[in-house]
Amino acid sequence: MSNTARFINALMCAACLCAGAAAHADDPFAAAREDMIREIEADVRMTSLQLDKEVLDPRVMQAMATVPRHALVPESHRNAAYENRPLPIGHGQTISQPYIVAIMTDLLKVTATSRVLEVGTGSGYQAAILAELVEQVYTIEIIEALGKRARRDLEALGYENITVRIGDGYYGWEEQAPFDAIVVTAAASHIPPPLIKQLKNGGRMIVPVGSRFMVQQLVLVEKDNQGEVVTRQILPVLFVPLTGTH
Ligand code: SAM
Repeated sequence: MSNTARFINALMCAACLCAGAAAHADDPFAAAREDMIREIEADVRMTSLQLDKEVLDPRVMQAMATVPRHALVPESHRNAAYENRPLPIGHGQTISQPYIVAIMTDLLKVTATSRVLEVGTGSGYQAAILAELVEQVYTIEIIEALGKRARRDLEALGYENITVRIGDGYYGWEEQAPFDAIVVTAAASHIPPPLIKQLKNGGRMIVPVGSRFMVQQLVLVEKDNQGEVVTRQILPVLFVPLTGTH
C-alpha cells in the first residue's frame, strides 16, 4: 500500500470510529446490545449439536440487535437489560434470556408474511422481536397488569403489528387462527391441544414442556401439509409455569 493510500485508509478508519462513537452517543445501550449479540452467537456455537446449526438466521440476529430490550424491562433492571439472562418483570414473572428468545424465534422459521401467536406476553420483548420479522403478532398474557404494561410499552416503541390480549393463552385465539407459527413462553405440562388445532398445515410451534419449577424440554411441533404432527425435543430449559384453569 502506498503512503497516500495508507493516509486515506487512516482517515477513513478515523471517520468510521467517529461515526461509531456518534451512534453510541445517541444510544447509550448500543455497546451493551452488541456484547449481548456476541454472547448469543457464542451460546449458539456451544449448543450447535442440539440446534443442528452453528449460526442463527441473520434476520433473527438483526432483530435481536434492533429491539431496545432496555425499554421493556422495569426501570430498576435497566442497567442489566442486555445481560444474557432472564430478569424479573414483576408479578413473579420474567423476561426470558436473550439466547432463548433468539433460538425460539429462529426455530419458528417465520417469514415477512407470517401471522404468529405468542402465549405469555410478559414484557413484550419476544413479541417485539417477532414483530420485526413478520406481518402480524397476536400475543396473550394472563396477568392483566403485565398485558397492559406490555401493550403500552410496545405502542410507545411504535409497533403497529402487535395485538395484545388479556386472557388464558392455553385456549389460543380462535378468531385469529390459523397461525403460521405459535410460540409459548411459559412451561406447559403438555402441548395444549387448542394450540395444535390453531396451527396451520405446514406451521411450526415451539413450547417448553415439563413440570413447573423443574427443568423442561423445549419442544418443536411441526404440522405437515397433510395436518400430521411430529414433535422433536431441542434443549433443556427453565421457564415459569403456564397458569390458568385448564
Ligand atoms: N415472552 C415474555 C417476554 O418476552 O417478556 C416472557 C414470558 S414469561 C417467561 C411467561 C409469561 O407467560 C408470564 O408473563 C406469565 O404471566 C404468562 N402466562 C403464564 N400462563 C399463561 C397463560 N395461560 N396464558 C397467557 N399467559 C400466561
